[in-house]
Amino acid sequence: MITRREALLTGCGLAAALAAMPSRASAAAVARLLRDEPARFFPWTDLGDGLWAVIDPDTGGNCLLALGSDEALLVDTKFPSIGQALLREAQEVGKKLRYAVNTHHHADHTGGNVAFNAAGIETVAHPKAEKRILDNWQQFIQHTARGVGFVGGLKRPTQDQVLREAGELADNLRHLDETDWGPTLLMTGDEMELTFGGRTAQLKHFGRNAHTDNDTVVRIPDANILHTGDLVFAGLHPFFDPSAGVTARGWIGVLRELRAMCDADTRVIPGHGQRGKGDRSLIDDQIEYLERLVESVQAEIEQGVPLDEAVQKSWPFMEGLGFEQIRPRAIAAVYKELSDAD
Ligand SMILES: [Zn+2]
Repeated sequence: MITRREALLTGCGLAAALAAMPSRASAAAVARLLRDEPARFFPWTDLGDGLWAVIDPDTGGNCLLALGSDEALLVDTKFPSIGQALLREAQEVGKKLRYAVNTHHHADHTGGNVAFNAAGIETVAHPKAEKRILDNWQQFIQHTARGVGFVGGLKRPTQDQVLREAGELADNLRHLDETDWGPTLLMTGDEMELTFGGRTAQLKHFGRNAHTDNDTVVRIPDANILHTGDLVFAGLHPFFDPSAGVTARGWIGVLRELRAMCDADTRVIPGHGQRGKGDRSLIDDQIEYLERLVESVQAEIEQGVPLDEAVQKSWPFMEGLGFEQIRPRAIAAVYKELSDAD
């Protein structure tokens, strides 16, 4: 029997918690759970220690909310069309938000910045992330234009309100420019501390390319918890974006450094997905996946298998993972990385 917290962490809220319950106790437990679950768009999970997470593969990157005495900090802001909902619920669940940190520039981690910036909350990112946000801000326009359809497909509590907000943002697009999407506060180096309500968050960029050229992790040391951004995909194929400077071998190196920042009790919030106890073994699993991927693709190249055949392959280490649709692009990116190096 897994605990409710584990069920919520490993799955996606109510459905997973229900599935984990013994059948005899179901009716009463369902009634209790339904009373406990507020009508929120996102599946907020109480992690204890003034920490909340949104582990939610269908709405972009996972979020971590850390509450101080009178202020709070949020990690990642999801897609543009749901940024307003994320902001509203983060403020309901917690305290007045002071900071929203972007782990990297991808739109499912920064798109909501537009709502947070409008509300006067400090959005924080590495300078290399800011450059990519400002250079690629058309991606936010495209996501916003598709926002009503995206929200409409989710079927969640408060959906009417979120649909309305997505529509209002789309209607307002012509009044926005790139600075509305960018961070309002830049990291002053590759490491920076932020204090909020008597608590501290440590931001760290490892100075080289991995998932992107601007990956930043966020640690709350007093609670020994780490948000890895997209350096870790748990139970999912990792997303490879050559336009963002992805390198499998760089990624492995950064993950080894990240692993060294953890002890056996460190709680790990991955960029996407969640699995098991949510500890440093997720980092080990990601290293393992990337090492096997590099080895496997190298073997294909050595055997003279062309790229278009190699991307069709699947190996045992890939079995059972979600995000199957991005498996071929992972193979293709590593194929090109290894070929270019020769
Ligand atoms: Zn990403």
